[in-house]
Amino acid sequence: MRQPLAREITDLIERGRDRQLRLAVTGLSRSGKTAFLTSLVNQLRHAGLEARLDLLPAARQGRLLGARRVNQQDLGVPRFPYDQAMAALAETPPRWPAPTRGISELRLELRYRPERRGWLGSETRRLTLDLFDYPGEWLLDLPLLAHDYPSWCRSQQALAGEQRRVHFAAWHAAVEDLDPAAEADEAQLAEIAERYAQGLRGAREAGFADLQPGRFLLPGDLSGAPVLQFFPLPGIAEAEPAELAALPPESNYATLARRFQYYQQHIVRPFYRDHFRRFDRQIVLVDLLGALNAGPERFEDLSRALANLMQSFDYGRRSLLSRLFAPRIDRLAIAATKADHVTPEQHPRLVALLEALLAEPLQDLRFASVPVRALSLAAIRASEAREVEHRGQRTPALRGTALDGEPLLLFPGEVPGRLPDDAFWSRQGFAFPHFRPLPLEGGALPHIRMDAALDWLIGDKLS
Ligand code: GDP
Repeated sequence: MRQPLAREITDLIERGRDRQLRLAVTGLSRSGKTAFLTSLVNQLRHAGLEARLDLLPAARQGRLLGARRVNQQDLGVPRFPYDQAMAALAETPPRWPAPTRGISELRLELRYRPERRGWLGSETRRLTLDLFDYPGEWLLDLPLLAHDYPSWCRSQQALAGEQRRVHFAAWHAAVEDLDPAAEADEAQLAEIAERYAQGLRGAREAGFADLQPGRFLLPGDLSGAPVLQFFPLPGIAEAEPAELAALPPESNYATLARRFQYYQQHIVRPFYRDHFRRFDRQIVLVDLLGALNAGPERFEDLSRALANLMQSFDYGRRSLLSRLFAPRIDRLAIAATKADHVTPEQHPRLVALLEALLAEPLQDLRFASVPVRALSLAAIRASEAREVEHRGQRTPALRGTALDGEPLLLFPGEVPGRLPDDAFWSRQGFAFPHFRPLPLEGGALPHIRMDAALDWLIGDKLS
């Protein structure tokens, strides 16, 4: 007991002096979390040297002296694999870093000179920056806490769009014959649960994002555990609650309902209690361009998933979250990532589209006085903005290298500045290839507006 308490107290004192900040990065799979955190650490380590961080005043004014990694305190959380990520980017040809799968952490110690010098003259100060990276999929489980098992089943059934259902065909075939009242057969439930997980994985591969339970997609060390062996029972939507409650404890229904509850209590809640509640600042990454590329059903799905995900930041007084825990996040950024996939004059539209997509959650947050900023960025810029002559006119273009090594020079299309309508989708005027990262030239990684993100997230602590 003593040691964690002592640790909490030191943490509290450090934070009281504004010397410690816990910054979390999240986003759905492939939204760019690993690239973002790699770049963030890289930029800060090169601050005061080669990093281009003009939008971060402390760096522009030469007050940010650098950052070094120090040992994290929570030894139970894996360390963010920064060295491996940099090694992948340094290969010939360069590779994108392998994505992280669960929660990871990295602690940096920043040295800076405050804006106004104290009476001691050239004092330097330290800021301990704890960085966390965790899957946005885990936040999709917050709404699950508001359900009991039967209402969760109904909520999942309501999601069945045509393209989405395809992925669950094998599960549907298996679950159809399952009698809720029959005695549970462990092996059969495991088998059906695996089909459900396969359905979720297939749907995710196809670009769907509104998928629950989140741990089924990223099970980490829970893989194969019975707590992950449940699924919704489609047949019980019309059943009377009293009838369901009267089913014997060994029945399929009661077994699945117990596992659902266990998942709520032992998987979802602890994440909020042990981690989420302790973050000071948060950035949510969104692969908006990827969704535009993938078509209307997936764009809709992303929109729903983000609305769900954003509930974790809506801790106004009446929210589910504030009834469960008291989070302390006091500043939030929402970023459309991979902006280097479009030409620079499209960037304001990308932000406008992000604002439109998140209009409701943003309004709620602003109403609850949570400072929030939307921006677009490229954590690791992999293209170069160019201009080309086209029919006698100069038009913007991008130059880069495709993943297979082919050189590219292209105009990827216009980003709609508001939510795309049918006309946009029928034109499908938007397509981009994936770029290979640019070869590392020593020094800092090329980026777009990482400095703006850093300024919003930590700038005030360096003044
Ligand atoms: P995660 O699953 O959220 O950790 O996502 P990653 O950081 O692994 O990013 C997924 C993929 O998106 C990467 O492998 C890259 O192909 C691409 N990506 C991420 N960030 C950028 C970026 O800034 N620019 C470009 N061009 N591609 C990016």
